[in-house]
Amino acid sequence: MSDKTIFQRIIDREIPSDIVFENDAYIAIRDIQPRAPIHVLVIPKRFSARLDDIHDSSELGELMQTAIQVARSLSPDYRLTVNVGKQGGQEVFHTHVHILAGWENGPQGHL
Ligand code: 5GP
Repeated sequence: MSDKTIFQRIIDREIPSDIVFENDAYIAIRDIQPRAPIHVLVIPKRFSARLDDIHDSSELGELMQTAIQVARSLSPDYRLTVNVGKQGGQEVFHTHVHILAGWENGPQGHL
C-alpha cells in the first residue's frame, strides 16, 4: 500500500489526470469533482502537507505566481482558494491552490 498522497501519485504518473500546465516545480490539473466551470488545482512538486508548512517566502511567492499565471491562461477573472487543515476544508494533505473561474455572473455568494 502506497503512502504517497493522491497528488504525488498524479505527479509520478501512477494515476491519470487532465494536466493543464507543468514545469519542473509545479503541476496544474483539472479537479476531478469541479465546483466551478473551470476548476484547476496548482500543486507544488516539492512536498508539503499544508500551506503553512511552507516557511520560505520565495517558495510561497512562487506558488502564488504560478497559480496566477495558470489562472490567467484560463480566464481573465478567477478565484484562488487554499484550504488549510481539516477544519479549513482540506481533504488532500499535499499543498495545493484551487483556481475557480468561468461563471457567467461571478461565483454564487461572496466569502
Ligand atoms: P482540498 O479539499 O484538499 O482543498 O481539495 C482537494 C481537491 O482534490 C478536491 O477538490 C477534490 O475534488 C480533488 N481531488 C481528489 N482526488 C482527486 C483525483 O484523483 N484527481 C483530481 N484531478 N482531483 C482530485
